[in-house]
Amino acid sequence: MRAVSRPDPGFDEALRGTSWNALVPDARPEIIAWPTTVEEVVEAVNGAREAGRQVAVRSGGHSWSANHVREGATLIDLGGMDSILEINREARTAIVQPGCHGSDLVAELVAQDLFFPVGHCIGPALGGYLLQGGFGWNGRVYGPACQSVRALDVVTADGEIVRASADSHPELYWAARGSGPGFPGVVVAFHIDVYELPREIVNCAYVYPEEVLDEVFTWAGEIGHDIPPQMEFQILTHFAHDGTKEIVVAGPTFADTEEEAREITAVLQGCPVVERAKFGFPYVPVGMEEMFGAVNAQYPDDHRWAVDNMWTNAPAPELIPGVREIVDTLPAAPFSHTLWLAWEPGHPDCPEREEMAFSVEDDTYIAAYGVWDDPGLDGANERWATERMEAMEHLATGIQLADENLARRTGRFMTDANYERYDQVRDRYDPDGLFCTWASRP
Ligand SMILES: Cc1cc2nc3c(=O)[nH]c(=O)nc-3n(C[C@H](O)[C@H](O)[C@H](O)COP(=O)(O)OP(=O)(O)OC[C@H]3O[C@@H](n4cnc5c(N)ncnc54)[C@H](O)[C@@H]3O)c2cc1C
Repeated sequence: MRAVSRPDPGFDEALRGTSWNALVPDARPEIIAWPTTVEEVVEAVNGAREAGRQVAVRSGGHSWSANHVREGATLIDLGGMDSILEINREARTAIVQPGCHGSDLVAELVAQDLFFPVGHCIGPALGGYLLQGGFGWNGRVYGPACQSVRALDVVTADGEIVRASADSHPELYWAARGSGPGFPGVVVAFHIDVYELPREIVNCAYVYPEEVLDEVFTWAGEIGHDIPPQMEFQILTHFAHDGTKEIVVAGPTFADTEEEAREITAVLQGCPVVERAKFGFPYVPVGMEEMFGAVNAQYPDDHRWAVDNMWTNAPAPELIPGVREIVDTLPAAPFSHTLWLAWEPGHPDCPEREEMAFSVEDDTYIAAYGVWDDPGLDGANERWATERMEAMEHLATGIQLADENLARRTGRFMTDANYERYDQVRDRYDPDGLFCTWASRP
């Protein structure tokens, strides 16, 4: 198995290459190992345990906080285990390795008229994405992507390979769907349900000047509860090409017929200041490549990022001052931005949640993304994301792990009962704390 340790030449460069975010923590693992088979994962886990080192795991390295970069640990990098092992069209199931990129899975599925709610960008791998919850394309219709995981193959702390499902190691299965960076094991394969490809995939958006921020967000708060789950209603506030700020109201929609899609997307035309839009496109049928492309344009590689987030059910008038403060202080052009998403899990057409560690979500999701290049700005921009969310903490009901910032700000991503249950699972499967857990936790 390929591996490098700290004294080896190229170690720092190899470590840097494991993280998508160019802003990496100061910590340095002792060894980085790149297994390509399940047996090599077992070997790496056993080797770490015998050497008295903790294990950190990386699949696609898209954790904003580079959670896998841990002092003195063995870092197991599963980037090479990126295959789609099986797609069963009749059974509507698939088996995927953790290093597989969500966009690659969707490309294969779409070719067979199938679909899965993978994340919105090219790059994040299924390993971290599915463990933390997974807010994917058309995700309001299927629920968090982890809800579509039926079983997992896991290498445990004592080097055993087990299948976790509702019938076998059910507690490990429970934890695998939402404990994210706290999962006490190495997932080497996910067994997932897949779905029929929606027939009419449409994008629509209106772009507003910053001056109408209050009107746009007030309207968004009023209509949020009624947005059908087939639409991902969102507002992105960012820098325009001329350096001013602008508000993009978008509603990617996944419907079965054009009639249905037209009815759903018409909601964007109901904005009371729609005539103030700088421009808009009310209805554009698209393919998934265009969907990924549109989002990826906001998330360029090779930059330094600090992010933070919150769930809330507060009314828009209470949220707008905090949102305005985020927008007013966006740290660096051109890519820094803020996101408002109407997730609305209580909508009558959204699926009920299964019994799983994932247990905190709410009507509205707000996130702040700071992006810059100059290392001299690290401190200020890291504080920006944290402080903006601290300022709105009284309105928050929790955080989402997808955009976690736990090394800088503690946030609640499970119910109290689930934190207790998680501790019991960890005590049972990893009593000696072999696997690193999330950053704010010992
Ligand atoms: C540009 C960008 C866009 C994103 N878009 C979305 C989105 O649309 N929806 C969404 O939900 N999230 C999104 N995210 C968040 C992303 O899904 C999470 O950061 C996720 O953890 C990334 O998975 P990964 O395998 O690439 O990350 P990694 O950094 O490799 O993994 C994150 C953590 O998960 C654990 N882990 C990973 N793999 C395993 C494994 N096989 N076994 C055990 N533990 C493991 C480890 O603790 C690891 O530190 C985005 C992130 C970025 C940077």
